[in-house]
Amino acid sequence: MSTASPARDALVEQLRELHCLGTIEGLLSWDEQVNLPPAGADLRARQLAAIAEVVHEAATSPAMGQALEQAEAEAAKTDAVDRQTRTLLHHTRRSFDQATKLPAEFIKRRAIAQSNAYHAWKSAREGDDFASYAPHLERLLDLAREQANLCGYDEARAYDFWLDQYDPGNDTAFVERVFGALKAELVPLAETIVAASRESGADASVFRAFPIDGQERFLRSVIEALGFDFKRGRLDRSVHPFCGGSPPDVRMTTRFDPDNPLEALFSSIHETGHGLYEQGLPLEHLGTPLCEAAGMSVHESQSRLWENQVCRSRAFWQHWEPRLRKAFPMQLAGVSSEALYRAINAVSLSPIRVDADEVTYNLHVLLRFEIEKQLFDGRLHPRDLPEAWNALSQEILLGLVPPSDAQGCLQDIHWSFSGFGYFPSYTLGNLLAAQLWNAALEQLPGLEDGFARGEYERLLEWLRVHIHRHGKQYDLREYAENVTGQTLAPDALLRYLRERYLSLFQPD
Ligand code: ZN
Repeated sequence: MSTASPARDALVEQLRELHCLGTIEGLLSWDEQVNLPPAGADLRARQLAAIAEVVHEAATSPAMGQALEQAEAEAAKTDAVDRQTRTLLHHTRRSFDQATKLPAEFIKRRAIAQSNAYHAWKSAREGDDFASYAPHLERLLDLAREQANLCGYDEARAYDFWLDQYDPGNDTAFVERVFGALKAELVPLAETIVAASRESGADASVFRAFPIDGQERFLRSVIEALGFDFKRGRLDRSVHPFCGGSPPDVRMTTRFDPDNPLEALFSSIHETGHGLYEQGLPLEHLGTPLCEAAGMSVHESQSRLWENQVCRSRAFWQHWEPRLRKAFPMQLAGVSSEALYRAINAVSLSPIRVDADEVTYNLHVLLRFEIEKQLFDGRLHPRDLPEAWNALSQEILLGLVPPSDAQGCLQDIHWSFSGFGYFPSYTLGNLLAAQLWNAALEQLPGLEDGFARGEYERLLEWLRVHIHRHGKQYDLREYAENVTGQTLAPDALLRYLRERYLSLFQPD
């Protein structure tokens, strides 16, 4: 944004105020999950509701609308509007319109339905009682259609609206095409790799009694080496790991299992991938769409790239294995290097998505995409979800039918907070990660030799230059094309999985 523009500057001021309020809301949520004593829960719920109202008011205020209109009018008088200004105006308009098109009455109705649905989901999962949750799911689905409609998407395009919420520019037709091609090859490939992993005896249960303090010291040294800046972020503990905060103050969390040090390590590395993206956004544009991630899929491509392609590689472990053994000499005394590496890359089928490895994970997402599509186009009624889930498990999850609804269609929290359309971003992120990995290997010769020495700056800088610093200026498909020269497709991921896992488990 080179040329002077008073109206645009005024809009940016408004956005900075709004962002500031939003980060207060974010801190309250972070604190709720990391520090809050149980007796503070009711007060915190009221604090969160109060700040949510303040944020919504600021986001939809007449002052914001006026500042936006004036900045748009100013841009309309300019011959060549630069990309940054176009991005700023486009995404601010999109957010403002979506926020103002939802009447207060709708927001209140949705909040009540979501809160009821969340509690109903929790007890339905605990009691393995889908029927008690079904009416809530039906209500949320109706509200999701209504919201899409209020925002200008007719009934037939309601699912497009939700996909676009998480990845601007995304739609059902695109995901359908890409996932169809992925499914055709991934299902048989996963079957082969699962069998080969089982036959090789790869197993994470070789681990016992890793003190949590030692685990934390080790993983902090890893994520610092990857480039996470602890002056601009923190790592704490919570029940469910996540990455929140904002670019100058990134908040990551993890959780520990004494008998599986890989869980905390890899979930922390995953969150670090998200954190590095946030820390790489251009701070000079803080508070505006130019300093915001492109979308959930691009975000996920960053976490998956570090977690899988980088940190499960042999080169990475050449450097870290001796350090892990030094930290846990007794625990690893009977574990050979090959057994350790195979445990790190073990592939097995689980009915639970969050327990899945990088080979079978995408099968879980393909299943959920199919369900969401059918829910939105009316082919599937929410009350029939368990039957549909189990039938699709048969087809997509290699015949594995979950032993209960609690471990099947009730396992995820997403739908209970109206998170329809979110699941596909995990797999789209994996596809982009695999393409980025190929491009990085091509453009940065000797990249993995650096990993073997514990050096990651070249990769991080490459990601900063090609992705992080551009914020929302490009969308998922544009990033794939601009950075890798290829449209987003499953080929790179399938090749990567074949090369890594068939050579590991079928080495001839
Ligand atoms: Zn993630």
